[in-house]
Amino acid sequence: MSEAKAYAVQSATSEVAPFKISRREPGENDIRIDITHCGICHTDIHQTRNEWGMSNYPMVPGHEIVGKVSQVGAKVKKFKVGDFAGVGCMVDACRKCAACKKGLEQHCEVHTSFTYNNTEQDNVTPTHGGYSSHIVVAEAFALKVAAGLPLERVAPLLCAGITTYSPLKRWDVKKGDRLGVLGLGGLGHMAVKIGAAMGAEVTVLSSSKSKEADAKRLGAHEFALTSAAGATLANRFDLIIDTVSADHDINAALSWVKTRGTVVLVGAPPKPMQVGAFSLVGGSKSLSGSVIGGIQETQDMLDFCAKHKVFSDVEVIPMKDINKAYERMMRNDVRYRFTVDMKTL
Ligand code: NAP
Ligand code: ZN
Ligand code: ZN
Repeated sequence: MSEAKAYAVQSATSEVAPFKISRREPGENDIRIDITHCGICHTDIHQTRNEWGMSNYPMVPGHEIVGKVSQVGAKVKKFKVGDFAGVGCMVDACRKCAACKKGLEQHCEVHTSFTYNNTEQDNVTPTHGGYSSHIVVAEAFALKVAAGLPLERVAPLLCAGITTYSPLKRWDVKKGDRLGVLGLGGLGHMAVKIGAAMGAEVTVLSSSKSKEADAKRLGAHEFALTSAAGATLANRFDLIIDTVSADHDINAALSWVKTRGTVVLVGAPPKPMQVGAFSLVGGSKSLSGSVIGGIQETQDMLDFCAKHKVFSDVEVIPMKDINKAYERMMRNDVRYRFTVDMKTL
């Protein structure tokens, strides 16, 4: 075992504070990654504060992890010491079930080991995330990060990137498609960048008038203030990716997609939503959901982003400012992702 410095919460009401955890020694198929950067996802806030009612403590959050490989097990093939690597929201899965065989490890029928607030495949050992000095992970669940990339801007791709890339691929977004991105935060700004790189005509649908100029700079063709949109956007989009973290009216979003269009929820507000039957039935519309993406798809996303030079817009912070960063995210004051510089741990 090795001791890792970390930041953790002890309860739903405690602040994120220094903590120590143990990591296993790398097994023959494991690598150890010395973490250089970790992005802050809104999920970290939902989870630390038990907003989804499934939190376990102590909890070391963080699932947008990049760093340098510092140890490799004897059978490791993909990595050598000194390579850059990433870890997203999963550290393992059964690898045998139908979902795993299809590359959908996030939907493992037995047990997806999420990166934190979960357990390893033994169902006992708690998993701890990226607000820590290092992590030990099976190479099969680590992603290759090409040398020379801006690591602080790559870290958020491991969750915000894949969570938006996956539905854009699944709904086959391509040149000329009209894509609406609802909510311009960490996920939203990646949906804009990736959607634009795929050739879509992107409109940002935002509750914040102050984000209009940023939306265009990030690659959106149009901007619409949701409070003022009403019927002006009726039947306009082929697809809307809904990234909003708080309660909002999903029926409005459904009215903005074309006949047979789809709204994909990736945002996960804690309260149940009310969907009117006629929001769906009238235009034969679909409301779907999507959670992160599989390991191969995550690697495809990283390769796509490297090729198209698509990286997150980040504000790099020291670890000690983590609680301030959470408060700022709650006030919708982030442009557009915080990344922790782990040297400051
Ligand atoms: P974020 O950076 O805080 O952005 C959320 C955005 O939602 C804000 O920028 C804001 O955009 C909008 N918003 C916030 N409060 C609002 C309100 N009261 N009314 C209307 N709009 C509001 O969060 P994030 O990290 O992108 O995460 C977004 C959500 O996705 C979270 O619920 C998170 O847990 C979830 N998530 C899901 C997955 C998955 O796999 N499905 C993965 C990661 C995260 P505007 O100012 O433009 O309105
Ligand atoms: Zn996340
Ligand atoms: Zn499985």
